[in-house]
Amino acid sequence: MPFRSPIKHCRNCGTAVVYRLPDDGDTRERAVCPACDTIHYENPLNVVGTVPYFGDKVLLCKRNIEPAWGKWTLPAGFMELGETVAEGALRETDEEAGAQIELEDLFTVLSVPRVGQVHLFFRAKLLSDKFDPGHETIEARLFSEAEIPWEEIAFRTVKETLQRFFEDRRQGRFEVHTGDIR
Ligand SMILES: [Zn+2]
Repeated sequence: MPFRSPIKHCRNCGTAVVYRLPDDGDTRERAVCPACDTIHYENPLNVVGTVPYFGDKVLLCKRNIEPAWGKWTLPAGFMELGETVAEGALRETDEEAGAQIELEDLFTVLSVPRVGQVHLFFRAKLLSDKFDPGHETIEARLFSEAEIPWEEIAFRTVKETLQRFFEDRRQGRFEVHTGDIR
C-alpha cells in the first residue's frame, strides 16, 4: 500500500495548501493553508487484526478487494475513530470472516514506516469453525501450518505474524513480538 495521497486543500476553508516548514519551529514540511494558517498533520495509521485459531489451525481470509486481491490474509483493517484497538480487531474479524472469537493477548506490533502504518494483531480463540465472510472476503477457511499458502499471503506483516504464531506454538508459550517491516 502506498502512502495516502498528499493533502491538496485545507480541511478548514478549502484553499489549496502549500507544503512547507511551519513557522512554529517544526522541522518537517506540513500542508499549511496560506489563507487560514491551519497546519495539517499526517501521522501513521493503525491496522488492527487477529490471529483466530481453532485447534492447531488458523483462519485466513481470501481478499475480494485491492490491494492484494485473491491473496490470503488474517482478518485486519484500519482502526476507526472512537474505538479501541481491541474493539477494532473484533470488528474487523466479524466483518471480514463472520467469525465468533474470544479475544486473547496482543501478539505482534509491527511498524511499516514505508507506508506510515503500525499493524497490531491479537491472538483470538475461535468459538466455532463456521464462518460467514463479508463482501471483502471471497472465502474464509482454516489452515494447518503445513497448509498455509506462504507464497499467496497478502502482506508481510501477516506472514511475519503467522510465522511467529507457529514458532511460539511449537515452544508452548506466546510472547508479544515487536518488529519493523522495511
Ligand atoms: Zn484554510
